[in-house]
Amino acid sequence: MEYGHCPKCNAQALYSSASAPVGRLNRIHRAGIVTYVVCSECGYTEGYLLNPFERDHVRDEWAIVKEVNNETFEKYPVLDVSMQENTCPACGGHNIRQSVNTDALMIAQGLVASLTHYVCLDCGSVERYVLSEGDRDAIAQYWARADRPPART
Ligand SMILES: [Zn+2]
Ligand SMILES: [Zn+2]
Repeated sequence: MEYGHCPKCNAQALYSSASAPVGRLNRIHRAGIVTYVVCSECGYTEGYLLNPFERDHVRDEWAIVKEVNNETFEKYPVLDVSMQENTCPACGGHNIRQSVNTDALMIAQGLVASLTHYVCLDCGSVERYVLSEGDRDAIAQYWARADRPPART
C-alpha cells in the first residue's frame, strides 16, 4: 500500500498519532486534540486538527490572520526547503533559531518524545522535528502508517 511522502526528505515513512489513544493529551488550548504526523526518517512533524467540530470552535473563537500576513504568503510561494538547512520555507529567510529546550509529544502511555521547534525570526513561521532516532523508532512502533494530511479515525 502507498502512503504519503515526507515533504522534507521524501521518505515514505509517515506515522500518525491518530492511532494512539494518548493523542488526547496532545492538545492546543481552546482548539482540541492535535493529530501529529511524524516522518520516522528525518523527524519532520506536522500537526492537524482533524475534528470538524474543533475547527468550528476555532472559527468562532480565534482571531482572523491579519491581511498583511496573507500578502506575505501570496508574494512568496512555500519553498521546498527545511528549517534544518537554515532556510525558511515561508519567506526564504536565513534567520532561523532552534529551541534549546524541547516540548513533550506523547507517543503512548508513559512514553514521551522530545519535540524541537524551529522559528524563523523574519516571518515567525514554525517547524517541528522529532530529532531523537530512539523517539522516532518508538513512534514507528506505536503509531500507524499515515498519509499527509491524515485520514480521520
Ligand atoms: Zn522526512
Ligand atoms: Zn520566514
